[in-house]
Amino acid sequence: MGKPEFIGKKSKAAGGWGALRSCGKKLLASGAPLSGAVTMLKANQPDGFDCPGCAWGDPEHGSSFEFCENGVKAVAWEATDKRVPPSFFKTHTVSALRGWTDYELEREGRLTHPMRYDAASDTYLPVTWDEAFSEIGKVLRSLDSPDRAEFYTSGRASNEAAYIYQLFVRLYGTNNFPDCSNMCHEASGIALEESIGIGKGTVVLEDFEKADAIFVIGQNPGTNHPRMLGDLRRAAQRGARIAVFNPVREKGLERFADPQNKLEMLTGGSTAIASEYYQVRLGGDMAAVRGMAKAVFAADDAAIAAGKPSVLDRKFLDQHTSGIEFYRAAVDMTSWEAIEDQSGLSRAELEGLAQIYIASERTICTWAMGVTQHRHSVAMIREIANFMLLRGNVGRPGTGLCPVRGHSNVQGDRTVGINEKPPREFLDALEKEFGVPMPRQHGHNVIAAIGAMLDGSAQAFIGLGGNFARATPDTSLIAKALRKQKLTVNIATKLNYSHLLPGEVSYVLPCLGRTEIDRNSDGVAQIVTVEDSMCMVHGSGGINKPASPELRSEVAIIAGIAEATLGSKVVDWKALGHHHDRIRDLISRTVPGFHNYNERVRKPRGFRLYNAVEHRVWQTPSRKATFSSCELPSQTEHQRAAGEKGLFVLQTFRSHDQYNTTVYGLDDRYRGIYGERQIVFINPADLEQIGARPGDRVDIVGQHEDEIERVAKSFRVVPYDVPRGSVAGYYPELNVLVPLSSAGEQSDTPTSKSILVSFRLAEATKAA
Ligand code: SF4
Repeated sequence: MGKPEFIGKKSKAAGGWGALRSCGKKLLASGAPLSGAVTMLKANQPDGFDCPGCAWGDPEHGSSFEFCENGVKAVAWEATDKRVPPSFFKTHTVSALRGWTDYELEREGRLTHPMRYDAASDTYLPVTWDEAFSEIGKVLRSLDSPDRAEFYTSGRASNEAAYIYQLFVRLYGTNNFPDCSNMCHEASGIALEESIGIGKGTVVLEDFEKADAIFVIGQNPGTNHPRMLGDLRRAAQRGARIAVFNPVREKGLERFADPQNKLEMLTGGSTAIASEYYQVRLGGDMAAVRGMAKAVFAADDAAIAAGKPSVLDRKFLDQHTSGIEFYRAAVDMTSWEAIEDQSGLSRAELEGLAQIYIASERTICTWAMGVTQHRHSVAMIREIANFMLLRGNVGRPGTGLCPVRGHSNVQGDRTVGINEKPPREFLDALEKEFGVPMPRQHGHNVIAAIGAMLDGSAQAFIGLGGNFARATPDTSLIAKALRKQKLTVNIATKLNYSHLLPGEVSYVLPCLGRTEIDRNSDGVAQIVTVEDSMCMVHGSGGINKPASPELRSEVAIIAGIAEATLGSKVVDWKALGHHHDRIRDLISRTVPGFHNYNERVRKPRGFRLYNAVEHRVWQTPSRKATFSSCELPSQTEHQRAAGEKGLFVLQTFRSHDQYNTTVYGLDDRYRGIYGERQIVFINPADLEQIGARPGDRVDIVGQHEDEIERVAKSFRVVPYDVPRGSVAGYYPELNVLVPLSSAGEQSDTPTSKSILVSFRLAEATKAA
């Protein structure tokens, strides 16, 4: 039996001509290649717009081409000339559209008019904005408590949209703010707050030019933060050691051909990125870091015994930290057997990595979902912080902790108030500014919101961007939860699956994209602002004509809903909704670090928010950087699966033609997959064990201790270099297997990187 048609050659390196070809294809597919290309020249430029892709930072002195292949995909997808006007819904019922794939739905193009769901015809019908605002306001006012409504935020929302949203919702009377960071870096925020007193990264881009060693843990920058490869390439070329922990060998971390480097492009050359690449077991990163720390402590003991200088930064530890003795005890209590079994790496390998760490004067640690989507993620990130504190690798140039955020403004949204557990100081500032009481009771995060929508205690869902039904776990339950609502409202640029799960009253409200011009009440093109993973706040101004004259900005839409729901006694929503400077003035008076906001954000590249750790000021209860002393998890899902025949641990991840739940295409060229998404990667020996051949169709069956049957049907198996016992596939398709009740301790983040599953041959395979 020949190789299945969808399995092809993997790229030799990330980037390179493959990236340019892919950009060309996406721009052509958008139907506006020329204007798309021109638009790209303004991406991530001081006088341009912020790429609606990821939250990687922009260099002080960037080039004219400050974008990557996935930035082009994001912009081409938004700036397409395809449209979904009211006539589209005349020929497509909502039930029929539910059978389309995510790719097929969004590929149809940009929404053009506010639409209301008509149950009788099972279609969406056009309405006026005022009709929409008025009915939405009426239903929200009809609820017997504001806590019966859930207000979701996607990380694409600008600071201005997020701030006016939180203000509306708090004046409405609730803190129910499920947001996309609950599903991505929530664990990072919680762990860093406990360890170093701020729930954000401590690194700036320039630190990558100074670091001697960079540990990249549970992250695939080649697809998810592609411009990071440029920073890693430069570091590798100047001799920095780049050590990777990732169960999957990701092309971008192996080799990168910089499309902006003439020599590499002309010669077909590329640069090796990782100097050390270890395929740690799923959920085994904490054990791996614990192993390195154990080796560092042992090296220190040996140095002291030999009368040599300590390998630890004693001065920093004494002056700036607390709790190292408890951490040392926890490390001593952890056996090498436990470390090797849980991490899948040998003592020698971890001792080797510890030597790289000891030899490095300045070290950075970066991580993403491979670390944050496990049950023990908070403890794992605290372990990373512990390891970095040992040699004072926090709060000095060339060092630091860097959770790399997914969505372009997910960090900014939290900073300006999208938080179901708002700090008391922030609510005090809002009360002082608006003279009315703010809700003090903590609200719902994503998991709690879904629970409330399922048990009927929540009756309304408002989505500021995103694709809630596809981003969240347990897809079959989410569909039920949304359909039970009295009201569902989705503010979006394109049609997606969540819009096809209407509540009793349901609206889809089309908004401007990041690349489109938004004029304020004086008719002047105005900017929005975002905050990247490096705490840099900068402006973004659209340059293109809106896709439809009916579109409104997210800010104006929220202002319209707020005015219709609350009236304008406390806030003049119309005035606020049509002039972002006014929102920024409010932010500068109620959110720390935003003084002179309007002036500072208009400087090229904006400004960096105050980060106390940069000054080695620790806003922890002890006013010290604080070591944790957690035990390793007693058993990871991988260890559990290893003990039971036919049981595997699944991780969900993105293809290279996807951004979060947005699917730009069906290829994943870095992994050699073309034209297919219904696939599961499995180790060749495990493939044999389940009695299947490459390309065969299998059903993937969830193995969670509850009554719910979870099956992902008819997925094609792909032999791939992953550790035995672990398998991988794409979300959102495989979110059907992620149990709502399987969430991170403290973070409540769905454990999408460690799901227990088994396989059975699909009917089609059995019949073949
Ligand atoms: S690295 Fe991220 S922000 Fe930068 S262009 Fe690419 S997708 Fe956009």
